[in-house]
Amino acid sequence: MGRFLTDSTGLTVTGYIPRLAEGVPHNEDGVGGMHLYMPWWLDNKALDFPRGYHIEISGGRRAPSYGILGGIERVNGAGGYGKQLKDDYRKYYGSTVSFAGRGEMVPNDDSYCEIDPVVVDKYGIPVLRFHFKFTEHERLQAKHMQETFREIIHEMGGTPLTPMPAAEEGYGLATGGRIIHEVGTTRMGDDPRTSVVSGHCQAHDVKNVFIADGGPFVSNADKNVTWTILALSMRTSEYIVQARNQRLL
Ligand SMILES: Cc1cc2nc3c(=O)[nH]c(=O)nc-3n(C[C@H](O)[C@H](O)[C@H](O)COP(=O)(O)OP(=O)(O)OC[C@H]3O[C@@H](n4cnc5c(N)ncnc54)[C@H](O)[C@@H]3O)c2cc1C
Repeated sequence: MGRFLTDSTGLTVTGYIPRLAEGVPHNEDGVGGMHLYMPWWLDNKALDFPRGYHIEISGGRRAPSYGILGGIERVNGAGGYGKQLKDDYRKYYGSTVSFAGRGEMVPNDDSYCEIDPVVVDKYGIPVLRFHFKFTEHERLQAKHMQETFREIIHEMGGTPLTPMPAAEEGYGLATGGRIIHEVGTTRMGDDPRTSVVSGHCQAHDVKNVFIADGGPFVSNADKNVTWTILALSMRTSEYIVQARNQRLL
């Protein structure tokens, strides 16, 4: 219990694409995440890390929303004030493209949670204490993301808006928990010695306890987690109904 906590690996590289600047305002609501997604495409045998990642692409002249138009100084190199700033917003709006990688982390012994021996919540219930470490697998995957996204931006005639992070910075790999796809800690499996729940998400030790969330994940594939959580919880619900009808619960 508590072992093999994982999160998706992740980082984003944004590029300024001059050919997209000074465009005519028009509706590009469908551009990016709505319509573009690049699944993993390479063979790991030829790479220096296991598993893969997908790419989420965003950009375009969508309807402005909260938080939009920030960071213009990364594009015009100056920021600005008044008319010049407004003109720059019009000029550069929609001229950046972002590539976000979301990849698979390999479960490891240093990433787990446990009951804190000291700290309790306001009800006096002990809180969870988390331990988390990425390994070279994830750092090399992040390096590959960085190099790939930067190459795509250059091929588009653009310039990445941030420098390539160094190895000491984990190649920009987001801290564990930042991608908010935490799963694991009540691993699924047939063997009660190495897993917490069965294939029906039923606790090996307590038959009327089912864990219908991300806990039973054995790994954290590069796909975002929620659809699989929903599929597993539906499957678990169906099993509970079936088991109840057969008087097994
Ligand atoms: C901002 C954000 C964006 C995300 N975007 C995506 C995405 O685009 N795609 C994707 O696949 N995933 C995404 N995720 C991840 C996804 O939302 C979660 O992995 C998923 O919701 C987890 O489901 P869960 O049922 O395990 O936990 P939760 O949805 O967190 O449900 C846990 C429930 O337990 C309740 N609870 C907690 N403690 C107690 C208690 N003591 N007693 C009773 N109830 C309790 C909580 O109130 C909560 O309702 C995102 C997450 C966040 C935070």
